[in-house]
Amino acid sequence: MLEDKFGRRFHYLRLSVTDVCNFSCDYCLPDGYQCDSDRNFLSLDEIRHISRAFAELGTSKIRITGGEPALRKDLTDIISACASTSGIEQVAITTNGFNLPNKIRSWVTAGLTSLTVSIDSFDPRMFATITGHDKLNTILEGIDIALSLGVPVKVNTVLMRQYNQGEIEQLINWVRNKPITLRFIELMQTGENLSFFNRNHVAGDDIKNTIETQGWQRTIREKTAGPAMEYRHSDFEGKIGLIMPYSKDFCASCNRLRISSIGKLHLCLFAEQGLDIRSFITSDQPENLKNELVKLLGNKEATHWLQDGYTGATKHLAMLGG
Ligand code: SAM
Ligand code: SF4
Repeated sequence: MLEDKFGRRFHYLRLSVTDVCNFSCDYCLPDGYQCDSDRNFLSLDEIRHISRAFAELGTSKIRITGGEPALRKDLTDIISACASTSGIEQVAITTNGFNLPNKIRSWVTAGLTSLTVSIDSFDPRMFATITGHDKLNTILEGIDIALSLGVPVKVNTVLMRQYNQGEIEQLINWVRNKPITLRFIELMQTGENLSFFNRNHVAGDDIKNTIETQGWQRTIREKTAGPAMEYRHSDFEGKIGLIMPYSKDFCASCNRLRISSIGKLHLCLFAEQGLDIRSFITSDQPENLKNELVKLLGNKEATHWLQDGYTGATKHLAMLGG
């Protein structure tokens, strides 16, 4: 089992398969994707090697993310490669959902076990303002198909003062009759979004107070569940999740490691740098890769320094997939 010097165990890998994105979310890639970095993304074989080494070290869940992972033409094969790795029990994806209606069936057939889609507004005009794309109805259609296939669905929402903060009631009401977890992710500062962050950050505690005042009850989660808080309400079929990276002790329950689309290990979303392990990934040498992972994990710090405005090497979250 991958365990760090603070006793945290890592059974969850977030694997970025591209940093390219077709959306231009104002908090992430406001000018759209800029092709200014290495685009030699992990190959299917390299993904197989990663998946196997992590599984042998006790990882049971892989989340495929990006950039926009659905831009990879071989995404279905990537899902299948992860899902068929012995020891990997859950394969999830985080997507902006742009091609969900066309793809979700093949992803599920390939072994996808859960779906997370990012939607910041149910008002099509606000959605287009934030993302630069008029795709809300397509995404919602894709979510309905996923539900009809029995796939657990989460929706990620970033509340922003100058955009959708006033829509919080509408957002919450959306899960009244839907078995979906709506997760509010507190806007994070990154290397490139400081002025946007300063204008738009909504404190996680304010969101928490709003939902607790409405009678949402916090659920007790398993010890291994990670840093998200989860709430239920007897009038609602869906659940609310809160991801508050600025809260005290957020990092104490960290259970995940990250690999970037160019094969760097990131011990934290806001680590000072990615650690280059590509040479251990390229050929099938699981023992060497496992030894390297265990060694590098020794450098994982107790916490990020985000509350002090330190964002490490993370220019934007499309680099690593959040
Ligand atoms: N493109 C896919 C998507 O949007 O779902 C996957 C990658 S995206 C970087 C993963 C998640 O990070 C999305 O839910 C997005 O809303 C969130 N995100 C991006 N930048 C963020 C920021 N600065 N603060 C908080 N969440 C952010
Ligand atoms: Fe693309 Fe996701 Fe970033 Fe939006 S949040 S720009 S969809 S990577």
